[in-house]
Amino acid sequence: MSASVTDCDIAVIGAGIVGLGVAHAARRRGLDVIVVDRCDDIVGASVRNFGHACIGAQTGEAARYASLARPLWLELARDAGFWLRACGSVVAARHEDEVAVLEAARAQDANGIRMQTASEVRDHAPVGTSSLLGGALLQDDLQTDPRSAAHAIARLLARRGVEFRMRTSALRLVSDAVSGGVRVQTTRGAVIARHAFVAVNHDLDQLLPDLAESEGVQRCALDMMRVQADLAAPLRTPVLTGWSLARYSRFADLPQARTMRQRLHQERPDLAAVDVNQMYTQLPDGTLFVGDTHTVSTAPGPFQAEAAQELLLQETAELFGVPRPTVLERWQGVYAKGVDEFLRREVAPGVVALAATTGIGMTCGLGLAEDAVARALGERTAPTGSTTSPSPTQKTDHEDYTS
Ligand SMILES: Cc1cc2nc3c(=O)[nH]c(=O)nc-3n(C[C@H](O)[C@H](O)[C@H](O)COP(=O)(O)OP(=O)(O)OC[C@H]3O[C@@H](n4cnc5c(N)ncnc54)[C@H](O)[C@@H]3O)c2cc1C
Repeated sequence: MSASVTDCDIAVIGAGIVGLGVAHAARRRGLDVIVVDRCDDIVGASVRNFGHACIGAQTGEAARYASLARPLWLELARDAGFWLRACGSVVAARHEDEVAVLEAARAQDANGIRMQTASEVRDHAPVGTSSLLGGALLQDDLQTDPRSAAHAIARLLARRGVEFRMRTSALRLVSDAVSGGVRVQTTRGAVIARHAFVAVNHDLDQLLPDLAESEGVQRCALDMMRVQADLAAPLRTPVLTGWSLARYSRFADLPQARTMRQRLHQERPDLAAVDVNQMYTQLPDGTLFVGDTHTVSTAPGPFQAEAAQELLLQETAELFGVPRPTVLERWQGVYAKGVDEFLRREVAPGVVALAATTGIGMTCGLGLAEDAVARALGERTAPTGSTTSPSPTQKTDHEDYTS
């Protein structure tokens, strides 16, 4: 283990999309940035997801971060040269109550949402089921390949001068009396920074366990598959279903969604039991991401129930009117799950913990990071929401923020 000590303006713990967003926001402002990640590669939730920025399905704080994130995704895709399409998403409605939810959302705010007939839905995706009634296009949504996007962003940031220290775990964050900043103790020496951003997703419960506990942060484990399906035509956009409407805030909180959710749960207790979000994205190579199921706990088990995966495969065959797809890969991904959609907490002077505490970090993470960096540098007024600063009088010379 090296005992080196380095100075920088910004230390970032975690090289997922949130940490990369912080590094990008800081580097853009000309600051020196060091990113540490415990793994030798980027392998967290940011590479295990659908690659879907579901911008049009958000409301409130999430919508604000999503709209900050959208131009950042476009800029990063251009500069880093990774695949991204500004294609929108289509919601396939298979029941009148799903159409009612979409219409209610549009009536509340018509921005970025266009109702679709069944045939218009089929212009975007070859939905084969005869139960298709219509749907909606979420016009601002983006799609990327999560397996290449985060890596490409990291390479771009490295070219721009961000230092990455992989295979390096942050162990402790303590105040540094000499510099007045923060000392991040890692398995390879210390990093001393003016500001430290903790962007470790569900591992918040390991690095800042008291914070995770007081904020009610748990782990949500999701099972996903990549399949080969005999589709009649490519998906021109990601495809969402009624199960997605029951989940995303722009729809889920509407009174009409209550009726829809009750009906879905009554009709399909098997899918409800595994907390399904039936949705699809297609990669440039033609394979489909199919998902997903959700299990929330402080320590979700690693074992993936084959029955739940089989249900998803049957639903896929039914939706697209195709034979059972061939599974190419299965995996589990985990994200931090909190009471609110985001955790943004100044745990000590100069130390900010950030997490998307529901499954929308690809949609909002870059915006969350941009906003947090701007606030830390005093570019924006302190929020009147969840962020609280500790009283300066609570701080001692070498206070340990992680214990
Ligand atoms: C299956 C699945 C599907 C999803 N689909 C979508 C979607 O379609 N759209 C969407 O918007 N969101 C989606 N999400 C959510 C989204 O992927 C996450 O919200 C987002 O990737 C979280 O980013 P992150 O940077 O916080 O975490 P991560 O990508 O998990 O990165 C955290 C990093 O911190 C590192 N780390 C942890 N502890 C330490 C430590 N002590 N020291 C150093 N490094 C540490 C880890 O190694 C990791 O690299 C999905 C999530 C999953 C799991």
